[in-house]
Amino acid sequence: MFDAFNNGIVINNPYPVTRVEIIQAPLPDKVVLPLQQRIGAEAEPCVKVGDKVLTGQLIAQTPDQFCASIHASISGTVVAIDAQIIPHKSGLKSNCITIESDGKDEWIKNKGVGDFLHCSRETLIEYLQQSGIVGLGGAGFPTHSKLKKATNCHTLIINATECEPGIMCDDALMQHDAREVIRGVEVLLRITGATQVFIAIEDDKQEAYHSLLMFNHNERISIIQIPTKYTSGAEKLLIKALLNIEIPADELAINHGILCQNVSTVKAIFDAVVEDKPLISRIVTVTGDAVTPNNFEVRLGTSFRHIIALAEPNDKQHDVRMGGMMMGIDVQSLDIPICKITNCIFVNNAKPKQPVQECIRCGQCNQVCPVDLLPQQLYWYAKSENTEKAMEYNLSSCIECRCCDVVCPSHIPLASYFSFAKALHRQTLKAQKKVYNARKRFEYREYRLVRNKTERTEMMARKKAELKQKMAGDKTQKDKIADAITRVKNKK
Ligand code: SF4
Ligand code: SF4
Repeated sequence: MFDAFNNGIVINNPYPVTRVEIIQAPLPDKVVLPLQQRIGAEAEPCVKVGDKVLTGQLIAQTPDQFCASIHASISGTVVAIDAQIIPHKSGLKSNCITIESDGKDEWIKNKGVGDFLHCSRETLIEYLQQSGIVGLGGAGFPTHSKLKKATNCHTLIINATECEPGIMCDDALMQHDAREVIRGVEVLLRITGATQVFIAIEDDKQEAYHSLLMFNHNERISIIQIPTKYTSGAEKLLIKALLNIEIPADELAINHGILCQNVSTVKAIFDAVVEDKPLISRIVTVTGDAVTPNNFEVRLGTSFRHIIALAEPNDKQHDVRMGGMMMGIDVQSLDIPICKITNCIFVNNAKPKQPVQECIRCGQCNQVCPVDLLPQQLYWYAKSENTEKAMEYNLSSCIECRCCDVVCPSHIPLASYFSFAKALHRQTLKAQKKVYNARKRFEYREYRLVRNKTERTEMMARKKAELKQKMAGDKTQKDKIADAITRVKNKK
């Protein structure tokens, strides 16, 4: 059943804990909430500087279908709406709303939707958009957009695997909120009408697995244990393993009737629909060799600095990374805010980077690729910027998981090469399309000029012939008149 996971690599949690807990982080003094989310247009604020806001109050939204609403994560006063550094690899600034806490955490009363079993699919989807729900597994794709597309959904897959080794937030959530997760799945069943649900959980999460089993009384929901291997949680691999359906690289699972949702997103759906709570907090794992690893329930917009301080960091120099140790991004400032997709913060003692050496053609990278690519071959093409050849070797299927990087004895950053080659290929296609469109425009112009010229020549010839005919007609008339004059003369 799990042939799809033949490759990939086993990496044990480098910073394990004896007990997976969730610590409620104390309320921060202020929160900074970015208006630009992972995708879609920037949200427009519906508050202004000086306004008092309550926890859970809507503070920004946009009609863009790829955008979820933004809510105040604490009660207090809006003190700024300006550009601040956001958690993004560009390190650039983006507009944010800053709220200073009044220390009361007073909640707004939301209307809610009542019993979800009596709500239509449309009502529930709209309510999820209003509640600001997005994918919490790291992708940040707005949940309502995904659900709108799920019109012929037969199978729901709940991804309960941790995206990467070391992250514990989903495990912690399932151990503590298994009942809410199962109820959240039932909300999704109501929306999609799917006939079956698979909750896929790694086999090293026995406590979470048993908690889910204990609360699941729905016969449409099956809880399946899968091998603990990086990247067994990759969506298309999971679908292949559970349903034996292969989704091509350029297609979406939802077009095949399959909807995948991360387990934390399912809990957020429960909170919104059943508890009338918009998305204002999330669980974040703080781990690494410079801190005491733990999970914290954190209000969105809290600074990295505030949360890292709770994990008792040592006083050495640190390398801080947002997301996993494999696919995460390095962060330069600890003042950036926790956002909806911040599932983990790695805080490690700063180490010198390993020098990159030449490829020794050992072939180790080829043995670990979870999607059966040939990274060594791809590397040569990516390095020489021969993207056409790289695409022939299925570069577009690369999920940039970095399994090949990890095993490479020469420390070549292979996934970065592949990411670069993909961007270059996109650029080339764009440029080719531009040239093609320009050529088509030129060809059409030429065709139009020739056509106009021909039409004009034909028209002139036609007119000339008509004139000639007319003149010929006129001559006959003249002859008739001359004949008449001659006849009159003769009579005289
Ligand atoms: S980064 Fe790409 S090529 Fe390397 S192992 Fe992952 S999927 Fe394969
Ligand atoms: S693992 Fe590294 S050194 Fe070995 S073949 Fe792959 S790229 Fe070359």
